[in-house]
Amino acid sequence: MEDLRKEIERRRTFAIISHPDAGKTTLTEKLLLYGGAIRLAGSVKSRKSKNYAVSDWMEIEKQRGISVTSSVMQFNYDGYVINILDTPGHQDFSEDTYRTLMAADSAVMVVDAAKGVEDQTRKLFHVCSLRNIPIFTIVNKMDREARDPFELMEDIENELGIKTYPMNWPIGSGKDFKGVYERESSSIQVFSSAGTHGSSTVASVKGSVDDPVFKDLIGDSYHEELKENIELLDIAGNEFDMGEVLKGNLSPVFFASALTNFGIEPFLKSFLELTSPPLPRATSEGEEIDVFSDDFSAFVFKIQANMNPQHRDRIAFIRICSGKFKKGMEVYHYQGKNKIKLSQPQQFLAQDREVVEEAYAGDIIGVFDPGIYAIGDTLTEPKNKFKFEGIPAFAPEHFARVRPMDTIKRKQFVKGITQVAQEGAIQVYKEHHIGMEEIIVGVVGTLQMDVLEFRLKNEYGVDIKIDHLPYRFVRWIETADVDLDNIDITSDTKLVTDLRGRNILLFQNEWGISWVLNHNDNLTLTDVGKVD
Ligand code: GDP
Repeated sequence: MEDLRKEIERRRTFAIISHPDAGKTTLTEKLLLYGGAIRLAGSVKSRKSKNYAVSDWMEIEKQRGISVTSSVMQFNYDGYVINILDTPGHQDFSEDTYRTLMAADSAVMVVDAAKGVEDQTRKLFHVCSLRNIPIFTIVNKMDREARDPFELMEDIENELGIKTYPMNWPIGSGKDFKGVYERESSSIQVFSSAGTHGSSTVASVKGSVDDPVFKDLIGDSYHEELKENIELLDIAGNEFDMGEVLKGNLSPVFFASALTNFGIEPFLKSFLELTSPPLPRATSEGEEIDVFSDDFSAFVFKIQANMNPQHRDRIAFIRICSGKFKKGMEVYHYQGKNKIKLSQPQQFLAQDREVVEEAYAGDIIGVFDPGIYAIGDTLTEPKNKFKFEGIPAFAPEHFARVRPMDTIKRKQFVKGITQVAQEGAIQVYKEHHIGMEEIIVGVVGTLQMDVLEFRLKNEYGVDIKIDHLPYRFVRWIETADVDLDNIDITSDTKLVTDLRGRNILLFQNEWGISWVLNHNDNLTLTDVGKVD
């Protein structure tokens, strides 16, 4: 079984997280380029041309088609098999974006050097930190005017609560960007606006930043400043500790410029070497499943419904957690309590779908879903019946009361809503003491509300009325024996339950959350809905 171990050890599965416009698409393109997948570069970019009106369904369909194919991109580089998980960031930001992080073994966080940590980065980081996966940082756009690098490190540490370790250090920025000093090798990578970015490296003869060779290279004043900065980092900065990196407590930071392809390959090399191969997953009983076991196991982390009425199929994306997948193999679907043959297994290379013959722990494949899977479901060898711990629900930020225009269509309405909720596109809540006649829907991104309306009409023949509600925050009540009838909440807070029967409070502002916590002793609230 040496081969199995080797195959699994060379896999690296990660997500790139960032706020829109920080450079995620540009970085992804460059990484694909290094993997020799040059023809893909354009197609990744094509996702960006999406200036459509939200009501333009053809466009959404087209775009969703593209995001299906680029949900995960696999390529080889330097002996590694790399799976990049796409985390949509613009209008299509949704709960799926968070859930995708559940399938990653590490994350690359792209920060704009002029802006520092931004809102969406913060949210995605928060989800990564729940799992303690390694997080690497790229401070991008160094070819533009940037904030002071020390200030940026401080921003990351204070905003996100993670320690940083700069692997390299920038010399100037914008039109005065000279390059970066690599701390480990005591060398300078020279930035040149002539297009030979990063290909020219000058090493210190003595192995220190003091070497006069650098003075000649970048000039006296830049060299003085660099020496001071590196000394400061060596004395006052964090120490590099691999254990801390792997636990997600310390983030290695790389200054780079994705657009000019500066610093990207050194980042990739270092990242692949430092980051973790496939991590083990725990079962609902808390037992870790050995990644290198001969037995296949996987879980569903995303379900993509096709909105085209001619092709009402769904694809379930599964993350393989142990062993090897072979095309046509029979597996046990724990939640469905039956054996199934995994049909039409697919792997995704940007625009091209390929039928997969085999795949290993760490890989992501898409399987045809005749409507049997739900987010978090487990697939195992038929002889091993266990389930992985579930994927939590993440906090929606937009809420609306939803009902069918025509009450006669109630049954189809409930069926459709339940299906869309099971695929994970929306969360559905019921008001306390009221049944399914009054439904509140929560979504992470507003586009999902339009998707719901569109799908109920097209797939279930139900026109719905959506009344937007002023809530912005949701908190799951963790306290087991809470007395719901006597819970003290403000008049603009709403008590609801979700489809799993978990008790939830909807708030209009953060003030309301503090108020409720202050007025109810022993009440514990969380912003993630845990499942067993
Ligand atoms: P995304 O929204 O995070 O995927 O960001 P994109 O990769 O689409 O980048 C947003 C914009 O920033 C685009 O116009 C890019 O060309 C530009 N950009 C990305 N990386 C860099 C960089 O390193 N330097 C400069 N100057 N521009 C960049």
